[in-house]
Parts: sequence; C-alpha cells; structure tokens
Amino acid sequence: MNESAKKAFYITTTLPYVNSKPHMGHALEFVRADAIARYKRLMGFDVCFNTGTDEHGIKIFQKAQEEGVDTQEFVDKNAETFKNLLKSLNISNDKFIRTTDEYHKLAAQEFWKRCFDNGFIYKKTYTGLYCAGCEMFIKEKDLKNGECEIHTGKKLEEIEEENYFFKFSQFGEKLKEYYKENPDFVTPSYRLNELTKMIDEGLEDFSISRLKEKLPWGVKVPNDDEQIMYVWFDALVDYISTLGWPVDSEGQFKKYWEDGETVQICGKDNTQHQALRWQAMLLAAGLPLTNRIIVNGFINSKGQKMSKSLGNVIDPVELVEKYGTDALRYYVLRELSPHEDSDFSIEKFHEAYTANLVNGVGNLVNRILKLAEDYLDKAVDIESKKVFFSQYSDPFDNLDYKKAIDGTWEGVKWVDERIQREEPFKVVKADLEKGKQMIRELVGNLAEVAWHLQPFLPKTAEAIFDAIAKNKKPETPLFPRID
Ligand SMILES: [Zn+2]
Repeated sequence: MNESAKKAFYITTTLPYVNSKPHMGHALEFVRADAIARYKRLMGFDVCFNTGTDEHGIKIFQKAQEEGVDTQEFVDKNAETFKNLLKSLNISNDKFIRTTDEYHKLAAQEFWKRCFDNGFIYKKTYTGLYCAGCEMFIKEKDLKNGECEIHTGKKLEEIEEENYFFKFSQFGEKLKEYYKENPDFVTPSYRLNELTKMIDEGLEDFSISRLKEKLPWGVKVPNDDEQIMYVWFDALVDYISTLGWPVDSEGQFKKYWEDGETVQICGKDNTQHQALRWQAMLLAAGLPLTNRIIVNGFINSKGQKMSKSLGNVIDPVELVEKYGTDALRYYVLRELSPHEDSDFSIEKFHEAYTANLVNGVGNLVNRILKLAEDYLDKAVDIESKKVFFSQYSDPFDNLDYKKAIDGTWEGVKWVDERIQREEPFKVVKADLEKGKQMIRELVGNLAEVAWHLQPFLPKTAEAIFDAIAKNKKPETPLFPRID
C-alpha cells in the first residue's frame, strides 16, 4: 500500500481539564482511544491520535489564585502531570495540544469569526446561575434543591452581564437529521435517543463569553476588548486546531477531518458537549461534523463516585507502579464496562490480574516457551501467524474493542485447553518428532495470541515476539505474582 492510498483515521480524547491531577477516568479514556488507534495502524490506516489539556476557565483561574501562583505557571505544571500519565500508560498519541498554545488560540478566534460572520453569534444582557464546577450556566429546570445536580453543596454564582450568545436554538432540526442519517453516530445508541429527546424539549442559545474584568484568563473575543471566550467554546475547537485548521486547511485538516474517518471518545457527562454543542458549532462554522462518538461510563469505587473526601480515590499511576502498565490497560479495556458505570476496587483488580494475566497469558507464555527452549533447535518462523481472525477484526473495525479483547482471551483459553488435552510434555518424551511438531504448532498459536494482543497490551505482545525469536522463556515473568 503506498502512502497516499492509505485511508486516514482520526481519533481524539476529550482534553482533561488541568485544575487537578489525573484520575482513573482519564486513564480509561486514554487507554481505550490508544487501543483503537493502535489497531487502526496495524490495519494499514494513516492514523492521527490527538489528546492534550484544557487550560482556560474560571476554575483554573481561581485554583491558581488560591495557590498564589501565576495562572500560566499553574497550567504548565499541571499539563506535565498529564504528559507523565500518558507516558506511564504507553499511549501512542501523535498530538498533544494545550489550549493555551498560541496556534490554538488563533484558531479559536477564527472559528468565532466564522460563526459570527455566518450570523450565529449575538450579544445580550443575561442573568443566570453559573456553576464553576461545570463551567456552565445551569437552567432553572435543571436545579436540584437550588444546586447543581453534579456539584451539590457548592454555591452557584449569580451572574448578570452582557455576553455573547451562540444561536444553538437554530440547529435542533439539522442535528436530528444528522442523527437519523447516521444511526452509528453515538455509541451506545440509546445516548442518541437521549440527545434527540433534548432537542425535542428545545435547545436554548447559550452564553459563550464572560466579561474580561471578571475573568481575565482565556482567549480574547475577536474585535471586543472587554470579553473573553467561554472555556468550552474555545476548548472544543482543539479537535481541529490540532490538525492545523485554519492556517493549513489543505494539509492534515483536509486529510483527517474532511476526507478521513473521525472518532471522538468521551465520558458520559461530556455527551452533550461533544454530540450536540460541538456539532452545532461545526454547522455554524460550515465545517463537516464528527463521524463517530464513543461514550464511556463513570468509574465508581464501592458504589460511590471517587472523591478525596470519601477517601476512595484510586490513583492510576500508583497502580501502574505496582502492577505494570499492561495490567492497568488490561483492566480498563476488558474488566470494566465499555459504556456503563463500573465499580473499581483494588480487590477486583488484583483478582483479575492474578487470574487472567499471571495465571492466564503469563503462564501460557512460560509453559510453551519452556518446551520450545528445551526441545527445539531453532526459533519457529511465525510470519504467517501475523493476521487477525475475523471474529476479532469485524467487531474491532466497528470500534468494539471489548469484543475484540474478549476474543483474544478466548484464544488464550483455547491454547491452554489444547495443552491440557494433548499433553505435549508427555508426547515429546514418547515420540520426539511428533512432540516437536506439536510444540512448533503451540508456538504458532502463541504468536497468534501476541498478534491479537498488540493494540491492548503492546509491551506484552512485543515481549512474546521477542521470546519466540530467541526461542527462550522470558527471563523475568511477564506478569509476576504480587501479594
Ligand atoms: Zn456543576
């Protein structure tokens, strides 16, 4: 396949908001996007995988003031913690955009101008209740006991000022049409019904700027020195500014956003922003909409939201330090629900690690390569084993990584059972040639497992290929037993 014939595939996470340190929800989103990106690359796609950090808004501005540091310094420091998490999870992102990057700010301003010129932005005086937690105005009808549903116990700020508004109300019918024409637009599909219902209830124009004297931290509104862009309006544009829009519209933007397949992955609290507001913004600017949006559920701990005050926060970096990168990757890809809320407990994590990695893949590698090392004179040629089974690639092509990883573990089980049933360790003693042939076949089976593991546990797959090439059991176990 030559370079130009490759089909372009673009995937992006949402950008984590850098007001606090990375948590398990970020780890989950990064790893899932990474597995899809790696699979697409193996299938010969020209992939661009974007992530980064969202660095504007009142919450960040206040947090930096609380800590008594310069806001830019504050976001510089926190952006680093996200870069470190990406590294420790072995994420293969091609881009890392920060919304404080100069090129992003210019793109957000150009995006604003296009929406303005197309008649979708206007100014009016507005009074509303603002939740700094959500970085959003909360509508009267959505209040629970006078508070934000998500940020209970936090006082809402009553704001009255003259702001710019986005004519969101104009886009309901167009969005519904798009949903109808693209039933796969949002996964899981019932989220699309929720969105349609929201449109039917009526979309309201929303405020997209704040007075600079109240919030100086953000992207300046074009042609108005007194206003700063609303953080969401600026941040969402990152999905295309990262591709060089608008400066280099004929380059990566054209290749990936206009001519390629575009996929966004997000948490369920982000569905409206990604599938409604951002799509309406794209319509307003006259740009193509996203092709697919994958929605993750939340991670709870012992049935409750993880929070510092409850003391049930599980730090992904600490888990990686103890169990290894691929252990965490395995858990968030296979053991947690792909779209529903899941409970994360150290006990369940440890159990799954021992059962499926130590006693599963790890043990399988040791058994087969010990036999190979003892009885085969040279490494088995595994080139022909480097193909995907259709039971794996069919769902994965449709972005269903969960079915694909479950299929991989079916493979692990199948090879395990084959060893139990055929007892190569006995056969090789009774009939050396027959036993050697059996071992060569098992090494081939192991290579198939490794091939399918690549998008999920890249380091493990690499270690297996390496051990097969050396015809030697790995010197240290791939997954050591941990007490
Ligand atoms: Zn809130």
